[in-house]
Order: sequence, then C-alpha cells, then structure tokens
Amino acid sequence: MAEVIVIGAGISGLTAAHLIHAGGHDVTVFDQGDMPGGRMRSQCIDGFLMEHGANSVVGPAPAADNLIAGLDLGGEKMLRSAAARHRYLVRDGRVQALPVEPWRFFLSGFFTPAARLRLLLEPLVAVRRDDETVAAFTRRRFGQEMLDYVMDPLAAGLYAGDPQQLSISAVFPQLKRLDRCHGSIILGAIASRLRRNGRPAIHGPGKRMLFSFRQGLGTLPRSLADRLAGRIFLGHRVESVQRGAGSRFRVLVRRGDAARWIMADSVVVALPAYAAANILDGLDRRVAETLAEISHPPLAVVFLGYRVNAIAHPLDGFGALMPAIEKRNVLGILFSSTLYPGRAPPEHVALTAFVGGARQPQLAMLHPDELAALAHNEVRQLLGGHAPPVVAHSRCWRHGLPQPGVDHTQRLDRLAAVESEHAGLFLTGNYFSGVSTTACIEQAVATVHRVERHLAAQAARAKRAA
Ligand SMILES: Cc1cc2nc3c(=O)[nH]c(=O)nc-3n(C[C@H](O)[C@H](O)[C@H](O)COP(=O)(O)OP(=O)(O)OC[C@H]3O[C@@H](n4cnc5c(N)ncnc54)[C@H](O)[C@@H]3O)c2cc1C
Repeated sequence: MAEVIVIGAGISGLTAAHLIHAGGHDVTVFDQGDMPGGRMRSQCIDGFLMEHGANSVVGPAPAADNLIAGLDLGGEKMLRSAAARHRYLVRDGRVQALPVEPWRFFLSGFFTPAARLRLLLEPLVAVRRDDETVAAFTRRRFGQEMLDYVMDPLAAGLYAGDPQQLSISAVFPQLKRLDRCHGSIILGAIASRLRRNGRPAIHGPGKRMLFSFRQGLGTLPRSLADRLAGRIFLGHRVESVQRGAGSRFRVLVRRGDAARWIMADSVVVALPAYAAANILDGLDRRVAETLAEISHPPLAVVFLGYRVNAIAHPLDGFGALMPAIEKRNVLGILFSSTLYPGRAPPEHVALTAFVGGARQPQLAMLHPDELAALAHNEVRQLLGGHAPPVVAHSRCWRHGLPQPGVDHTQRLDRLAAVESEHAGLFLTGNYFSGVSTTACIEQAVATVHRVERHLAAQAARAKRAA
C-alpha cells in the first residue's frame, strides 16, 4: 500500500516525486530502466562526455532554477560557452552562418531577394484563427523559402519533426499568439520590443541562456534520485493501472518473472504518451487510445569524438541544422565541446549528430556501425572531417519525441478530462506543453499542485468521516 505511486523516473516523474515527498507525503517511484533520468542521461567515454538525450536546458527556467537551487546544484551549473557564437545552417550543400539579428537577417545575402521581398508583405497577410501546420502557417505568412530554410530546420532541431505534420499552436505558440493579437508576426515583434523600450526580450539574471552541468545533464536526475533513495525501484516495469477498492488504484508491477499488485491512493503517470497508453488500457480505453494516437518516430543520437586537427571547420557555434530540402542524412550536428568545454579531452572535439525523427525514421534504426559511418560521412562532407573519429557511440530511441499535430489541443482536452473522471490519477510528461526539460519540469510542478489538492481533500474527507 502506498500513498502516491509515481510511474517513470525521467525528469517529469523525478521532479513530481521529489516535490510530493518534500510536501510530506509517502511516495514510491517505479521505473523499468536500470538508471534514473529516462531521456536525460550522461555517460563518460574515454575522457569524452556523451549526452544520450537532452543536451541543454533552455533558460530562463524559473521552475528548473528553483529545483536546481533546492538540490544545491547551482555550483555545478555550466552556461553555454560564448565561443558558440554562430548558428549554422546548411544551404546549397555548404555550412553557412545564419544571421540572427533582425536587420542582418533581412539584409544578409543568406536569403534570396524574392524571399526578403516576401517578408515585407507579411503584415498584409490575413489572420487565421484556427490551428494549422507549421508548414501551412509559415508558407502563408512568410513564403516557401522561410519555411525551407528557417522553420523546417527549427522543427527538426526542436522536435525531430516534420513541419507538414506539426501544429503551429503546439510547437510555436508565441508565433500564433502574435498572429492572433497583432495580425502580423513582424509588427507584433516590433510592438513587443517597443513596449520593452528597446531592452532585449529577457534581461538580467533570467536571461535566455542554455545551460548544463559540469558532469552533464544527467547530474539533475541523479541528484533527484539520491534525494529519493529507498523510494525508487529501478528495473520495475508497470504493466497496468486499474481501479481498486474504494477510491484507490491498483498498480501491476513486474520485476523479472515476478509480478504483484500494489495499492495506492494516488497514481502519477509520468511516462511518454505511447507508454502511458499501454498501462492505462485496462482503466480507460478511450484515454489509452488518445495517448496512443500521439506518434513518436525513432530518433538516434550519434556521438563522435575527433582529434582537433581532424576537423577543418572552426566549430565556433552551437552546431549546424539541415533543412529537409538539402537532403542530408542527419537532422543536425551539435558542436558539443564548443557549447560546453570539457566535453572532450585536450586536443579533441566532440560532436553529436541526430538521425531519423519524422523526416527519415528508418535511418534511426540502422546498426550502430552504420549510424557512426553515416554521421561521420556528413562530418566529412560538411565540416571537413578528414580523419575518422577516435570515439563513436550511438543511442537509438525507438520512440523519440512526441509529434503534436493540428488535433493536439482537442487531444489534450480529452486527456484533461481523465483527472476528473478518475480522481487521484494524474498524467504528466513531455506531450502536454512541450518536449523541453523546462516544459517537463513546469508541467510536473503544476501536476504536483493538483496531487496536493487531491490528497488534502481526501485527508479532510477521512477526518470528517472519523
Ligand atoms: C535525442 C534527444 C535530445 C533531446 N535534447 C533536448 C535538449 O537539448 N533540451 C531539452 O530541454 N530537451 C531535450 N530533449 C527532450 C527531453 O529530453 C525529454 O522531453 C524529457 O527528458 C522527457 O522526460 P520525461 O520524464 O517526461 O520522459 P522520459 O525521460 O522518457 O522518462 C520516462 C521514464 O519512464 C520509464 N518507463 C517507460 N515505460 C515504463 C513502464 N511501463 N513502467 C515503468 N517505467 C517505465 C522509462 O524507463 C523512463 O525512465 C531531447 C530528447 C531526445 C530524445
């Protein structure tokens, strides 16, 4: 018998469990894996540091900052290096720096004159209030070239997604808001800037910044798991959640050949949508079907370590994104040791390539040797890699990131109803308000508030009955 069972020890489940425990409740966490952290996992390999999933937290992230401060991890934090100056994009088969300041964006020769002229017409485009795909929205407001060379690579970089399938409201809600409120993205952006009196969008200590930790992002789940020692059960796969006696739930937990039912007052399902669908089928078929509709194409991470003089490119940026129109075999390459010095031993550099996603799902499933060869080939052609890597390691996520389509909002409404229909059951994870770790932590914090309200109401009822 447990008061609260949290299923999943990724960043969503660990954050929720930590806060529930800190609130004075009894919490038990089950995860089928051999390590806490889920898609946040760091590994040292021959002096290199590989991230198997998330590489950076995007600040400002007040909820993440509070969590980190509470765990005393502030001293471990590492801001992305100023050496990562440029954002590169492949155009016409070459890696080129993308202009980022608005005026440079407009004046630079990166875009054709026709594309720049088309940008000027954006304020004249009619507003569309309903949701649409990222591709339809961008083509309508900015034209095909902005779709091909800005939004498509961004969708690949953030969601490993295809702009023809992703919802603009779910993936870039701020753009949809500007469209709705100002009738134009460009005029809306100028108006917001003027309102801020020319100050940058975010300033001061909460400045928009990427960060990680000295030993990688895995530091965060490791530290959360340490605080929950004795309450986390790894290698325990949850197979089903069902209604038990009274208002309780029963949870079927399997370890190896042995399975047992455990009772709980409350259950927090902190799993990716496809995994949540599997365990909720017996409780609510409709919810399980809704969760199963969210696609998660496979995504592979290929980590490559080179001697510094094996790469001709200065690697003076975040990395390079590949627009689909360029027909490359990777979605992007992160310059990991530029972003966070110390990710490679002296005289070496570390690169991380992402393969597959919604664009080329079949490539993510290649054999690790083929993945390494494919990624190195891209490094050779695009970054002047003229010697093989000294380290090559890959990780395939068979179910990569959730892809919110244009029907995602209706889907979330259906999922929100589950908590009122099954009081005491809570869903959290990266399919609600965004895939970033920042969004996962914020979502988990909001879920914990609902859990606490539920437990308080339950305690008050029990007191009245006594
Ligand atoms: C390649 C890649 C790169 C990324 N890069 C970034 C980045 O740079 N920045 C960023 O902010 N975000 C990034 N993300 C996104 C971010 O990492 C994820 O959205 C986030 O970590 C998801 O956390 P979660 O806890 O919701 O789910 P997960 O991390 O998937 O955790 C779910 C846990 O549930 C467990 N589980 C599954 N089924 C069961 C079951 N039946 N019983 C028990 N346990 C179960 C799993 O073992 C896992 O530990 C990236 C993701 C990927 C895949």
